[in-house]
Amino acid sequence: MTEQPRYRVVIAGGGTAGWVTAAALVRHVGPLVDITLVESDAIGTVGVGESTIPTARSFHALLGINERVFMRETNATFKLGISFENWLRDGDRYFHPFGTVGRSMPLVDFQHFWLRARERGFGGGYTDYSLETQAALAGKFATGDPAPLSFAYHLDATAYAAFLRGLAEPAGVKRVEGKIRQVERDGDSGDIAALVLESGARIEGDLFIDCTGFRALLIEETLQTGFDDWGKWLPTDSAFAVQSETTEPPVPYTRAIAHGAGWRWRIPLQHRMGNGFVFSSAHLSDDEAREQLLAAVPGKPLFDPRLIRYRTGARKRTWNRNCIAIGLSSGFIEPLESTSIHLVMIAVTRLLQNFPLRHDMVALAERFNEQSRAETEHVRDFIILHYTLNQRDEPFWREHAERAVPDSLAERIAAYREGAMAWQGADDLFRVDSWNAVMTGQGMFPQDYNRMPALMPDADLARALGDLRAGIAAQLPKLPSQTEFLAGYCSAAKEVAA
Ligand code: FAD
Repeated sequence: MTEQPRYRVVIAGGGTAGWVTAAALVRHVGPLVDITLVESDAIGTVGVGESTIPTARSFHALLGINERVFMRETNATFKLGISFENWLRDGDRYFHPFGTVGRSMPLVDFQHFWLRARERGFGGGYTDYSLETQAALAGKFATGDPAPLSFAYHLDATAYAAFLRGLAEPAGVKRVEGKIRQVERDGDSGDIAALVLESGARIEGDLFIDCTGFRALLIEETLQTGFDDWGKWLPTDSAFAVQSETTEPPVPYTRAIAHGAGWRWRIPLQHRMGNGFVFSSAHLSDDEAREQLLAAVPGKPLFDPRLIRYRTGARKRTWNRNCIAIGLSSGFIEPLESTSIHLVMIAVTRLLQNFPLRHDMVALAERFNEQSRAETEHVRDFIILHYTLNQRDEPFWREHAERAVPDSLAERIAAYREGAMAWQGADDLFRVDSWNAVMTGQGMFPQDYNRMPALMPDADLARALGDLRAGIAAQLPKLPSQTEFLAGYCSAAKEVAA
């Protein structure tokens, strides 16, 4: 009996996307395949991507990751949501929390009760009914008891790739260091046949995963798959990133602070602060952006700010022939809602659900591409929403407010405006509560809402809402500060490299 040749997976690139893919494949289909990962220390990784969303936790569970170890190794902190500052106008602030807001009824979502109360002159703010928001703003955190919080992580991107490599290599992934000089195609089929390195080494494979970042060496440079440019909707194209010394205890949320031509982030880790400045090069020069970022950095910068240019959009197909693009090679939407690592994880999950792949899986590839596209467009629309509803004065922001949005988003805005209707479709990442938090946070109040709550006498509605707020207020004193919790749970206590 002749033995079947083993299926060979070649992962090109070892950033977050490459190592997430390698760690997941080896854990779940390791015995079925040979996995080789090629990366180049000389090229390095994009080195950003430090804020996540709660789906990272279920993905980590699939990988059997111990949370304490992972957090210690990556100097991670907890994240309960994002604080949007100056987005509506200067001085304004709203919070987009993880978890649920208020309590919905079978036929009527919570926002309708809140909007009814607001119309009647009581009820407070929408996220007054979110435990995550209130805990975040009080700097508090705990996992499990005493309060069930929905959370994600802030992590050190370089340490994260190293942590995943530490899982993947001992489990059987072969790592090859070297620069890819050429991508060879099969003369008959046109599929990718091998990667040729500068050393002359040739790595053959059956399936190639393109994790080469913005370079997109396989999916674009070689296969010329095509790219849909979304710059007309999201015109930022540049970011400066710099890390700085910690000056205060880390808050359990990401900060996204609008400025005249974009926004800047603050991502607190246990040992340092991550800072970034996202901007449109048509509205601000690199020198001005760099200066504005450094003026806003809270502690001593740990190196010179690094400029990253990007193009917003998506590859026309993420699975093309025997190549699947995962990570920045598949496209990019600015990091306002920290969605890129999630898109990596969901793509890898889908890859596993389709495993093993053969060369003639046309229908599966179509389905894979449709789902990727739907998810990415959904994220794109949600990001545009933050911009389109702004009331700021600068040209960058005015242009945004006047710019047409994709039809899919226009439909959502119209439905919310008419009757406070928000929804989450099958391939949609963002929940109804998320749409509400950003719509109302960006100052959009609907013309009407579901009238069922109006059947409740004001006193009953006020009592029900008061009970929800009281329930949250009663939880807060039981929670330790995030700093106390981290110290007992996963303190990294590492020196900061100067
Ligand atoms: P990279 O990190 O660029 O890795 C590419 C790999 O390919 C490297 O190992 C490189 O050496 C290798 N490579 C390339 N060419 C060759 C070659 N010729 N030969 C050999 N190897 C090669 N995502 C989030 O989820 N949250 C965030 O907060 C967030 N913030 C971001 C902020 C900015 C400004 C940007 C630009 C992105 C951000 N992202 C964020 C996205 C996130 O950084 C990426 O999704 C994630 O890091 C994955 O990157 P990657 O692995 O695809 O690419």
